[in-house]
Amino acid sequence: MTELSRIWRETEYRYNLIGFKCMNCGTSYFPPRDICPKCHRESIGKMEKIKFSGDGEVISHTLVHDAAPAFKRQVPYILALIKLKEGPVITAQIVDCDPGDVDIGTKVHAVFRKIRQDGDSGIIEYGYKFVINS
Ligand code: ZN
Repeated sequence: MTELSRIWRETEYRYNLIGFKCMNCGTSYFPPRDICPKCHRESIGKMEKIKFSGDGEVISHTLVHDAAPAFKRQVPYILALIKLKEGPVITAQIVDCDPGDVDIGTKVHAVFRKIRQDGDSGIIEYGYKFVINS
């Protein structure tokens, strides 16, 4: 498998909140791996896909001012490490708030939003971003 398709596969899972659960030890993780990070057994054929609830907590955050061209229209935006209720930590945008509203421990949940727009083709991709729990 090429590097590009691996990255795309991970991106696809990330934006759809699809993770994996080891059928040996029950650990949920993300992104997909060949070896379970907990019990270190081969996961091939021994993991099931799960859809995460989208509930989580901010463990780290940063304000991004400089982004790849496809994300330029969104700067500055808040990028956070979010620990999902199921355990895995993912990187995602937090939207609909001021940067000052986000702190370590802030509870968030996933919402389905536009991820980016290709400037030339006009193609819009959708996926999950996070908002602060009200
Ligand atoms: Zn395991």
